[in-house]
Amino acid sequence: MTDSKTSLKPLQPTLYELADDGHSLNFFFAQCSACGGLSFPANAPGCMHCGEPLSKAPRITRPGGGELLEFVTLHVPLLPGMAAPSIAGDIRIAPGIVEEGVMAVADESALKHGMAVRAVAEVKPEEGVYACRFVPANEGAAR
Ligand SMILES: [Zn+2]
Repeated sequence: MTDSKTSLKPLQPTLYELADDGHSLNFFFAQCSACGGLSFPANAPGCMHCGEPLSKAPRITRPGGGELLEFVTLHVPLLPGMAAPSIAGDIRIAPGIVEEGVMAVADESALKHGMAVRAVAEVKPEEGVYACRFVPANEGAAR
């Protein structure tokens, strides 16, 4: 690919990668050989569901996203590189797995509890990286 984004690196390469569309993110999970459950991050030492060691578990790549459970506007940065104010959400990214993410929306009025959200890249060209942000899943392919 000649897309300039391919020269960018994920801010957290163990968690996600840029999908083929150059905008969405895929998340990495480990699939437990004992119970079949997914764990995140994929380098977790043990299965989140049954505790089985995951050292030999296959890595599964799935489109990043899930169900928005809770959200709150933060007026101080919670994570490195995060703007303030910003909106943090608890997102169920797979059965039994809830992660905190940053919502890339102007304000809370764009969000609803239980809505589907997807992970997209927020490019930080000056740092040569892209970070993970979440947008409503029905927000089309807007770039
Ligand atoms: Zn398991």
